[in-house]
Amino acid sequence: MAITKVWIEDGCIVCNACEAECPDVFHVLAETCVIRGESRQDGVEDTNHAKNPLKVEIGTSLEAAIKAAAEGCPVTVIKFEAIASAAAPAPAAKSGEDVESAVDHALGMDSAPAVAPAEDGSLPATTGYVWDIKAAPNRQIVLPKSAPLPSYKAFVAEQEAAKVADEAKWQKQLADFETAKAKAVEEGKPEPKAPVRAVPAKNETDLVFPAPTEAQAPELKHLMELLGDKVEEAFEQAGEMTCQVKKEAILEALRFCRDDQALKFEMLADETATHYPLGQGYAFSLVYHLTSVSRSRRLRLRILVPEGFEPESAEQVYPTANWLEREIWDMFGIRFQNHTDMVRILCPEDWEGHALRKDYPTLGLGQREISFREDRGGMLMKIAMEAAGNLGINLKVPKAE
Ligand code: SF4
Repeated sequence: MAITKVWIEDGCIVCNACEAECPDVFHVLAETCVIRGESRQDGVEDTNHAKNPLKVEIGTSLEAAIKAAAEGCPVTVIKFEAIASAAAPAPAAKSGEDVESAVDHALGMDSAPAVAPAEDGSLPATTGYVWDIKAAPNRQIVLPKSAPLPSYKAFVAEQEAAKVADEAKWQKQLADFETAKAKAVEEGKPEPKAPVRAVPAKNETDLVFPAPTEAQAPELKHLMELLGDKVEEAFEQAGEMTCQVKKEAILEALRFCRDDQALKFEMLADETATHYPLGQGYAFSLVYHLTSVSRSRRLRLRILVPEGFEPESAEQVYPTANWLEREIWDMFGIRFQNHTDMVRILCPEDWEGHALRKDYPTLGLGQREISFREDRGGMLMKIAMEAAGNLGINLKVPKAE
């Protein structure tokens, strides 16, 4: 990424936060803030409403500082445009605009077809399914960011870290101000304006993040008592109860949920997973959505499992887990112990990869590039002939139309 343009819209409250963050680009005057002439290609120093470009080296080397200043502006009047990189320019992704095309670019969806046909219209031959990672470089997308794992413990830790970082930033602003003041006095120049602590921008939308809270609901506390030290954490968020247990204790937890008279979660409404490729000590969260039909309550049980771990199948407690776990195997590659029919449910058995993993390309690996109806290069026919030959069947090649 590199920032190409930065400007300041009307409404600056002259708080000095941006200059403290990035003094090479922002300059706070008596009544407003401006973009320094030294950092702009046109050399003019003003709010840059005309959106004149920054010097390339400034936009590249100070990218992080400019972004930090824009994020720290309490009235969000600092705006910027950025490009993905000089080597692979993407459409400008400025706040709120062109986001769709930037995302398309990142996913390779605006590129030419992945598998280029030869001059005669045929596609490159491969064996089995038609996928060739080398022929489809634009399928090699960057891992999309995972939404963070919902967690009360992580939320509390993040809040604490943000407070500490904010205080450190403010202390640095104060120290910088004192240094600048001492220098101004020494040089006989007017004193700089004292910094004003930035206040978080008001969220005037109704999109309020539902913060997780400690477990309060009686049945959640009851389940925690039943499971004791097998509970890793329990919390409530957006009106939902979540209980994370040790991965080896999932069957015990499910049995309590189904059989205990205070819980009575008779139904496994869903069982699914989320891939966290960068998770510390786990790669997947496996979630069991339980419903108590008689009490009209819902509970989410969760375990965190590393790559290759095979959890016990929930089929013996909730038979409906049979199909749900086949789907999890198919889409995420998690196998279950003691499952009665551990085969894929959506894709063919010899399908390569698991489509809901974060590292599976959004456009697929190419298996669906060709159908019998569109078998222009005759590839599927070749595969069928080869398979028939291996079985000793002598198929005739149909005549071309
Ligand atoms: S951070 Fe925003 S409000 Fe504060 S001086 Fe800079 S532009 Fe103005």
